[in-house]
Amino acid sequence: MQMSFPNIPVATLGVPRIGRRRELKFALEAYWSGQIEAAELLETARKLRAEKWIEQRDRGVTKIPSNDFSLYDQVLDTVAMVGAVPPRFGWIGGAVSLDTYFTMARGRGEESCGHAGHSQTMTALEMTKWFDTNYHYMVPEFGPDQNFTLSSTKPLDEFLEAKALGIHTRPVIIGPVTFLKLGKCIGEDFDRLALLPRLLPVYAELLAKLHKAGADWVQFDEPCLVTDLEPREREAASFAYGKLAAEVPGVKAMVATYFGGLGDNLETALGLPVAGLHLDLVRAPEQLAPVGRLARKDLVLSLGLIDGRNVWRSDLSSILDRIKSVVAGWTLDRIEIAPSCSLLHVPIDLELETALDGELKSWLAFSVQKMDELRVLARALSEGRDAVANELKASAEAAASRAASPKVHDPLVEGRLSAITEPMRRRRSVFAERRRLQREKLNLPAFPTTTIGSFPQTPEVRKARAAHARGELSYVDYEAFLKRETEAAIRWQEEIGLDVLVHGEFERNDMVQYFGEQLAGFAFTKHAWVQSYGSRCVRPPIIFGDVSRPRPMTVAWWQYAQSLTSRPVKGMLTGPVTILNWSFVRDDLPRAAVCRQIALAIRDEVADLEEAGTSMIQIDEAALREGLPLRKSEWQAYLDWAVECFRLASSGVRDDTQIHTHMCYSEFNDIIEAIAAMDADVISIETSRSRMELLDAFRSYNYPNEIGPGVYDIHSPRVPDVAEMKNLLALARRRLTDGQIWINPDCGLKTRKWEEVRPALVNMVAAARELRAAAA
Ligand code: GLN
Ligand code: ZN
Repeated sequence: MQMSFPNIPVATLGVPRIGRRRELKFALEAYWSGQIEAAELLETARKLRAEKWIEQRDRGVTKIPSNDFSLYDQVLDTVAMVGAVPPRFGWIGGAVSLDTYFTMARGRGEESCGHAGHSQTMTALEMTKWFDTNYHYMVPEFGPDQNFTLSSTKPLDEFLEAKALGIHTRPVIIGPVTFLKLGKCIGEDFDRLALLPRLLPVYAELLAKLHKAGADWVQFDEPCLVTDLEPREREAASFAYGKLAAEVPGVKAMVATYFGGLGDNLETALGLPVAGLHLDLVRAPEQLAPVGRLARKDLVLSLGLIDGRNVWRSDLSSILDRIKSVVAGWTLDRIEIAPSCSLLHVPIDLELETALDGELKSWLAFSVQKMDELRVLARALSEGRDAVANELKASAEAAASRAASPKVHDPLVEGRLSAITEPMRRRRSVFAERRRLQREKLNLPAFPTTTIGSFPQTPEVRKARAAHARGELSYVDYEAFLKRETEAAIRWQEEIGLDVLVHGEFERNDMVQYFGEQLAGFAFTKHAWVQSYGSRCVRPPIIFGDVSRPRPMTVAWWQYAQSLTSRPVKGMLTGPVTILNWSFVRDDLPRAAVCRQIALAIRDEVADLEEAGTSMIQIDEAALREGLPLRKSEWQAYLDWAVECFRLASSGVRDDTQIHTHMCYSEFNDIIEAIAAMDADVISIETSRSRMELLDAFRSYNYPNEIGPGVYDIHSPRVPDVAEMKNLLALARRRLTDGQIWINPDCGLKTRKWEEVRPALVNMVAAARELRAAAA
């Protein structure tokens, strides 16, 4: 490879750690199940780090990160680093062991632990989404008397490990403000930022060690600077970096902000006594101009110009044009070139996708391809565009081919989109009238029982699917197998007396992939995995073109299931917002427009299901809430189009066709109006773990439609008994009218075993019967 290195630094901020072939995943899982020793796991990890460093160096990255690697999660690493191990893990100080680390991540007891000899049950740290990504971090826990001590030298070890390979790195550490903000309070609520004076000495101690080992720069990730902050939180940031600068003056801090613009935190960020500031100029290109005007002349600005959240190749010339006027007056030593955020959130290497359509492939860039793009940008700025004329030309050609390709543009879809009218987003009659007609038609008992859709994806189901995918099981045989599974599920549901049945979703690999594979405008990869949490990876579909539905997707399965029973079987679809939020979305259209296209495709499917005789259609919107923007001021705009898309997908039906939706989360207080505006006839939600508390939102809003509050926590192998479910239902009846209540589990049952599901649902039906008898 011929390589010329730019003198403007090139940074990645962090790279994927799972490995091209998911080596880390397999090593972790082998270790957890006792198949390999710790030494082998650590050796795999060491090799992966070395490969990543060498690869970045060879591709012209000059600010190479270290400590961006993690065996599980970088927030958990920070918990271990500062000794914030919650008391229940029995840690007595000293270095946090691998065992303690993984116990915090995965818990111990119940189903989580593979190693023998541990009898105690320990609940893992909670897990939640890292800002608005699909990556999940482990939530730190802080008590009011929290102390911190330096308890892991991981950042130092990895710095030295790279140094031994001849690679000088810039360690990445989660900034102290973001770290405290991401945590939760144990016991009473208190201001976690008040812990800063105790936390900062640990950071300072680490920085001093890094400095002594030869580190000159350290990257502090402070994505909380792009979120809504209170004045005291901004002061805390100034305090923290002032303190670190005073304590360890030898280390230069690059404060990394990403996933959005600094907005009203701009002044705070620019006032920090640090040497560098990273800006996300993909999500917030408009902030470059004010930063250019207001920043200290000696502040190094890391320009996040390549999208670290998406898979598209950039049009490099247009990026250069966009920043030209601002950076024209700058000296080159003020600039670094970087992705918008760490490359953790994109797949590793496009070259592995040998089966992908060549034209589509020419429009994409994964982590290593993005490094190449960064280098070209840096060279264009330092040596002039002529030095990289070929690269710029190739990138412009790819952009032009994408913009003009008939694969991307479907005039029929574009025509339908512009012909959407208001009545298409409204049911014909109001809920009260629809309910009357639906009751007449469906004739269900009070407190109807149902499930959320999927039944256990047993090893046999997965084996058959894999054999079919490998070509070892013919479609005819595979289909016959799925039919047998479906039939057994229908028979069993009838037998135990559920009122509204489901077909079980045995034919579905995943609730988004199953639809994406049948829709036009979607592409699927073979190796483009992205870490979701720990060893878990997902392979999101890529929406590259206008979306349409060439033919019915679920009708035949519904018809088959309904042909076996006289009880109603729900049609089962994934909603447009969820399909959007769990995909890589094209960046040449607003997300709302892409979502509308998906909504029209789902609307077609809804129409065909109704035509085939379905009287109940469930449209799952599991990911509606997680699409909320980071800034509250942007929520309403998102909710407006998200709700509009759900309505577009669901409103084409007759009044007596019952629309269900399902959401598996438990925070509705702040979005209840939007939930009501979706106007689903029935909504099923996750409530069992919160003991129905979240129904308060529905009660105080006077939510008019029907609700199935989950009475069975499907995240646990535990089988709830009748009394427990009746208790939950009693709590629900305090908050809802009897006529509103449905009885169902929290979510789909695909991750559970039949041995758990069978008794749990038998108990659920018994609880419903007892309730009916008592209420009659
Ligand atoms: N219908 C889907 C299922 O039952 C819903 C899954 C979900 O909400 N995550 O599996
Ligand atoms: Zn769910």
